[in-house]
Amino acid sequence: MTAAGKRPISAGMWPYYPDLLAVPVPRYTSFPTAAEFGDSVGAADADAALRGLSGDVSLYVHIPFCEQICWYCGCNTSAANRRQRLSSYLDALHREIALAGVRLDGRVAARRVAFGGGSPNAIAPTDFVRLVDALALHVALEDPVWSIESVPRTLTAEWAQVLGWVGVSHASMGVQTFAPQLQAAIGRVQDDAMIVRGTELLRRAGVTSLNFDLMYGLPGQTKADLAASLRRTVELGADRIALFGYAHVPHLIPRQRRIDGSNLPGQAERFAMAQFGYAMLTAEGYVPVGFDHFAKPDDTLALAAQSGTLRRNFQGFTDDQAPALVGLGASAISCLPGALWQNEKNAGRYRMLLSQDRLPAVSGLLRSVDDQRRGAVIEGLLCGGEAILDADLASEVMVRLLPFIDRELAVLEHGMLRLLPEALPYARTIAALFDPYRQDSQRRFSSAV
Ligand code: SF4
Repeated sequence: MTAAGKRPISAGMWPYYPDLLAVPVPRYTSFPTAAEFGDSVGAADADAALRGLSGDVSLYVHIPFCEQICWYCGCNTSAANRRQRLSSYLDALHREIALAGVRLDGRVAARRVAFGGGSPNAIAPTDFVRLVDALALHVALEDPVWSIESVPRTLTAEWAQVLGWVGVSHASMGVQTFAPQLQAAIGRVQDDAMIVRGTELLRRAGVTSLNFDLMYGLPGQTKADLAASLRRTVELGADRIALFGYAHVPHLIPRQRRIDGSNLPGQAERFAMAQFGYAMLTAEGYVPVGFDHFAKPDDTLALAAQSGTLRRNFQGFTDDQAPALVGLGASAISCLPGALWQNEKNAGRYRMLLSQDRLPAVSGLLRSVDDQRRGAVIEGLLCGGEAILDADLASEVMVRLLPFIDRELAVLEHGMLRLLPEALPYARTIAALFDPYRQDSQRRFSSAV
C-alpha cells in the first residue's frame, strides 16, 4: 500500500552517478507498462469493463494522422494525405464512440475529454465538431474540460474559431526546439513566426492552460540551444512545459533512421541538460511537476503537484482524478483500476473491426492485486516522491535500493520510502525497482535520463 505523494519532488544540484542510470527504464505512464500487454485480453474484456464502469471517467480520442511526419516520432500516426482514408477512419471512430456509449449507458460522467494523436488538427475543423457532437450524443458529458494536442503548422483561424466554440481550455503544442538547425536535424521545421501565430490563435480561442513540449538530447544540441528555446518558451508565456529527453531508438522506431545519431549528446551531457532546464525553469518561477514537467504556480498541474494530488496516466503527469480513462480510436489505450487494454493500432484493421460493429480492443492485461499495489508505489514515487511500502515489498527491493540509500538519494523509515530532493533524475530508476516485469529492458526502453 502507498500513500499518495505529499510533496512535489524538487532538487538543488543533482549528483551524477552514471552507474545508477545505466539501465534503460520505462516512463511508467501505466503500470504494468504497455510492453506487458498480451492478446489474451481483448474485446470481451473491454465490453465487460465498460459495462461495469460508473462514476467519473475521462475520455481520450486518438487521431492517428499528421500533415507531415517528424523523423523522431514514436506515435502511432501516418500522413494525412488521402481524404478517403481520413474520412473512413472518422466513420469508424464515430462507430466506436456509439458502441462505447451503449455500454456506458448513461452511468458515467465524463468530466474530461482529450484529443491527441498524431495531430488532431490534421483533420478538418468541421470533422472535429462532428466528433464533439458524437461524444455529446453518446456519452454523458458533465461540463468537461476539453483539451487538444496541436501542431502549429496546421493551426488556422478556422481551427481557433472551432476550439473557442467547443470551449477548449487546455492545449499542448509540439515545439521541441526553436533552433532551425535542430529542427532540420529531426525533420520538424516550423519557424518562430509559425509558433508565435499558433500561440496567438490558441489564446484567442480561449485556451487558458497552454503546454509546450520541448526536447533536450537532440543531435548536435548545445546547452546554449536549449537555453534559447527555454527562454523563448517563457517569453511566449507557456503555462506548462514538458521537457523530454530525446530517445534515439531506431531499432524500435524506424522513422528515426533518418536522424544522424553520430553527434547525439552522451549521457553526462543529457544529464547536464536536464539539470540546466530544471534550474532555468524553476528560476523563472515554474513549479517542477514530476520528473519532467513544469507549470506556472497558478496552473492546476502545479497546484496538484503541491497538494499531493498529482497523478500519472497515458497522457503524462495530470491533475485528473478520475479513476478510469477510456481511449477511443486506433491504438488508444484504456486504463481502469482492474484492466488496461489497447485498441488495434493499424488504422485499416481498426476500420475493419468497427465495420463489423466489434469493439477494437486487441491487447491488454488484467491488473492483479499485486500489480495495483506496485502501481500505487510507482505512481507515488514519480508524482510525489514517496510511497508506503509493506514489509514484503521493502524486503524484496532492499538490496537493490541500498545503492540509492547509501548515496543519500532515498531514505526508508518506518515503511515510508522517500526520495530526497537530489533524487529527481533517479526517480524512474528507483520506481523500476518495484517492477517485476522489467527483466529484459535493455532494448525496449529509453535512456533513464
Ligand atoms: S506532429 Fe507529433 S504526432 Fe505528428 S509526426 Fe510529428 S511528433 Fe509525431
